[in-house]
Amino acid sequence: MRLAIMGGTFDPIHYGHLVVAEQARYKFQCDKVLFIPAKSPPHKDDALISPVEHRLAMTRLAVDSNSYFEASSLEIERPGPSYTIDTVKEVKRLYYPSKLFFITGADAVLEIISWKSVEELLSLCYFVAATRPGYDISNLQQKLGALPEKYLEKIIPIYIPALAISSTDIRKRVKAGEPIKYLLPESVENYIKNHRLYSEK
Ligand code: ATP
Ligand code: MG
Repeated sequence: MRLAIMGGTFDPIHYGHLVVAEQARYKFQCDKVLFIPAKSPPHKDDALISPVEHRLAMTRLAVDSNSYFEASSLEIERPGPSYTIDTVKEVKRLYYPSKLFFITGADAVLEIISWKSVEELLSLCYFVAATRPGYDISNLQQKLGALPEKYLEKIIPIYIPALAISSTDIRKRVKAGEPIKYLLPESVENYIKNHRLYSEK
């Protein structure tokens, strides 16, 4: 089985995530894409992130219409901080994939160098770096230059139709009472409304 992981905070999940995951799935012929909401990303401020139950519920709703996609509570259930390296190892243990891809956007891949155990991570899976408006993935090798060649080769750029959608922007729009329709699946939009997420109270 060729497997992909789409990691993220998904607060909320939106069409940017879904487009990237589907394009990568097709390009690398993956049998499954696991969407794994991060419990408490080490690089994000805990207090500002919605409870994981909400983020997982929205992720479940968003992936429902794609039979290749699956929401996973793997990181949520593991005690302690959520490091990608531990998630990748656990996915390998659980699924025995013939090839494993970790899908990220251009911004996340540029942070890769600061992640825990980056060399071990790149020895365990491929990294897919999808284009994202506002972030430059040209000269990726140069930017990640501190890494040995054998690891750099495991980072594959893919060019996807640009979607300048971000969760930060969606949260701001909800707070300001502006529409978010067509930026994310309707089921997720309704969930946000019903649970009054991202508005002041
Ligand atoms: P936030 O604004 O809260 O950081 P986000 O929109 O960046 O949210 P994340 O959950 O942080 O979403 O991102 C998860 C992964 O999806 C990251 O690898 C990120 O680079 C990628 N991603 C998110 N939005 C896009 C997009 N519009 N185009 C390409 N990649 C994206
Ligand atoms: Mg982000």
